[in-house]
Amino acid sequence: KMETKVAVVTGSNKGIGFEIVKGLCQKFEGVVYLTARNEERGRQAVKKLEDLGLRPLFHTLDVTCEQSIQEFATYIASRYCGIDVLVNNAGILDFDKSVSSYEDAKKLIDTNFLSLISISKILYPLLKNNARIINISSDWGLLSNIRKQIWLDTLVKDNLTVDEILQFVNDFLQAVKNGKTTMVSFAGHYGDYKVSKVAMSALTFVQQRQFSEQGTDISINCVHPGFVKSDMTKGMGDFTPERGARAPLYLALEAPQSQKGTFVWHDCHQVN
Ligand code: NDP
Repeated sequence: KMETKVAVVTGSNKGIGFEIVKGLCQKFEGVVYLTARNEERGRQAVKKLEDLGLRPLFHTLDVTCEQSIQEFATYIASRYCGIDVLVNNAGILDFDKSVSSYEDAKKLIDTNFLSLISISKILYPLLKNNARIINISSDWGLLSNIRKQIWLDTLVKDNLTVDEILQFVNDFLQAVKNGKTTMVSFAGHYGDYKVSKVAMSALTFVQQRQFSEQGTDISINCVHPGFVKSDMTKGMGDFTPERGARAPLYLALEAPQSQKGTFVWHDCHQVN
């Protein structure tokens, strides 16, 4: 097996993820995997970087499909000693719809949040002892976006568990499905997206605690990349995707290994 260091970025055929791969190709001392759910879009993105003289590698990875994650894990495990950097970037949002149907909300939460649970089951066992995980969150992922006090109180407690975060997400979806509460009263407009990113933030803190309790030196941090012009925002935003990649790249390459379980702003400063 190759001793070389390995970096992996999910959903990196375009947008911020693509720019994170680009930055890693320039500065990370190891191989960089550009991954995408669609092979053709992924290979085209690799070609774009090759035209710039960079050498990313490609593998398909659909974060909503456990079989796809498993195939990727098997592939990595057969070639390398483990993963050094994992950037959970893949995400969806329909910017034109500030209130989704139950079905759309479920799909969004599957992609933006539940995928992290599958990834932690299947890919985390491959992490090296000092690996870095970077979760691409959002300013909408700050816990204060949750308007229901009972959930806010639950999500900030010290001994929070993964099951309680799953309960939070399920309660939201069930409430919306049964019409007991509207998405808007739970979390405001784009409530499903906010819930997915708030859950991501909470999971980041819980998983950091678990990694540390297990005696590993693994760090997991989440980051708001800024309001970035991408397909997701229909070209609206303050930053180019390259600028949006700055703080994620800082966490992957420059942050001290001691920086653990934090929420980082696009200017690389910690906000919690
Ligand atoms: P883009 O829409 O440009 O990119 C999203 C990427 O995720 C695409 O490559 C897309 O692939 C991929 N993706 C979607 N679903 C899956 C899946 N099931 N499996 C694997 N990949 C998938 O958006 P951005 O670059 O703007 O967003 C990247 C991340 O940044 C997201 O997590 C987003 O929530 C977050 N973010 C963005 C902000 C912004 O202002 N743009 C602000 C705050 C956070 P495909 O091409 O196949 O659709």
